[in-house]
Amino acid sequence: MKKIFQCWVQTAAFIPDYIDNLSALNCPSCGCSTLDYLYGGDRETRVGYGLFWCTTCKRGVHISRLYIPAVVSENKVIYFDDPHGSEKQAQLVPEFKRMTP
Ligand SMILES: [Zn+2]
Repeated sequence: MKKIFQCWVQTAAFIPDYIDNLSALNCPSCGCSTLDYLYGGDRETRVGYGLFWCTTCKRGVHISRLYIPAVVSENKVIYFDDPHGSEKQAQLVPEFKRMTP
């Protein structure tokens, strides 16, 4: 597994702990404190996926089968039952290069 991918996965795992203080986290690719994220998933089970990216270097990861933490605000989650989910995601998520294992 590539080290940069591992770093992104580790950083993404920290995001729930830094949800109100994201600028304390640095991008694993470029070092800037400009990370952003979006979760998507099932409203009941809160199982879904997470998109985590850097707005500076436009790199990030897509992590599947994760639990959407309760601390994540509703405007950062797109539920599978939302009929406008894909449009919302397109508005919120910029083009970014997905790091791979
Ligand atoms: Zn970056």
